[in-house]
Amino acid sequence: MNILVINAGSSSLKYQLVDIDTNKVLARGLCERVGSPDGIRKHVVDDNEVRVEQPLKDHTEALELVINSLLSGEDAVIESLDEIGAVGHRVVHGGEYFKKSALIDDEVIAKIDELAELAPLHNKAALAGIEACRALMPETPMVAVFDTAFFQSMPPKSYMYPIPYEYYEKYGIRKYGFHGTSHRYLSERAADILGEDIRDLRIITCHLGNGCSIAAIDHGVPIDTSMGFTPLDGLMMGTRSGSIDPAIVTFLMEHEGLSAEEMNNILNKQSGLLGVSGISNDLRMVRDASNAGDERAILAYEMYSSICKKYIGQYMALMSGADVIVLSAGVGENCQKMRRMIFTGWQPLGIILDQEKNKQRGFERIISQDDSDVAIIVIPTDEEYMIARDTYEIIHENSQIVPISAVQNEFV
Ligand code: AMP
Repeated sequence: MNILVINAGSSSLKYQLVDIDTNKVLARGLCERVGSPDGIRKHVVDDNEVRVEQPLKDHTEALELVINSLLSGEDAVIESLDEIGAVGHRVVHGGEYFKKSALIDDEVIAKIDELAELAPLHNKAALAGIEACRALMPETPMVAVFDTAFFQSMPPKSYMYPIPYEYYEKYGIRKYGFHGTSHRYLSERAADILGEDIRDLRIITCHLGNGCSIAAIDHGVPIDTSMGFTPLDGLMMGTRSGSIDPAIVTFLMEHEGLSAEEMNNILNKQSGLLGVSGISNDLRMVRDASNAGDERAILAYEMYSSICKKYIGQYMALMSGADVIVLSAGVGENCQKMRRMIFTGWQPLGIILDQEKNKQRGFERIISQDDSDVAIIVIPTDEEYMIARDTYEIIHENSQIVPISAVQNEFV
């Protein structure tokens, strides 16, 4: 069965068509600047990339073009829309409603919309993707896969904030955690690579990309993660500050005369690697500048690694140790210098990086020494595979599949 995986952002639409039986990606691509006359569309089949610059009015138009590319032209991979058995949508916020992926019906759509208050850009974009698919493929079952669902098993002592309890009740202010699909994939994959049952392992997963988060997965159950009420919390990221003294927010608003929106913009878009180095949010550029002796770039680099280290330490304390530490995403998969800095000095705690293995690139691999008590593994993350797999499992769970058009009719 072919499953179309859709990851809709506010002005983008990423997709993959996956044959779930062979786990082969038949086609993938990205529409950028959706909603603008200067749209860009990239469609990739095997290693052949076609890039088209064209207006992309909205998500529906972008999806229509994507489907045309799947169906026609030299790189067509299917002959009819019937060959798409289901669609899996990445949805950022599932709040407390969704503890796992869900078959999309009107009730699920209404809940995603309700939760848009907590993640306005992201959930509205996912809804645009869902509506676009619904318009073009009304008979095809769809599944929502939530970034937050994996962390719904965290205990209250992890997800509650020490502020008046009424704000949890009134606004749902608590830690939700994000990147859940990635952390779930990484923890399952780590157990597979080690040939162990995940229920026997204490795993720390580090998703270090432009957005960064670390999670503690104790015998298969996620018990804490660094992102919180929003994806701003936790680690220092490309442009996001991560955790800071909350009093800095009110201090700066008062002294700089900033509105809530301006403050939000500073913490989300002007902080992190970019804010400290003044050079870039891209770690490669910060690394090059630090190698050339730029002091703020060196500082940014040291802060990034030190903050990662502190989270790993916290989670080891929570789980009375760790068996595996996984590194993933752009930085975790590719940056040997950052990995070396994060893992310097852990020998007394039984974590020993193998310097030679750390230099290898581009595939799943164990990079700790054979005598390290804790395995360090680099795993390229694959959120799309997880979304496709969940979609397949959910539609088979609901063997009496009701297409979305029929569900709609029930509500008319
Ligand atoms: P992602 O969000 O997963 O695409 O990751 C983006 C981040 O990964 C950026 O900060 C990039 O600078 C970083 N990155 C990608 N490739 C490399 C590399 N070869 N060395 C260091 N950092 C890299």
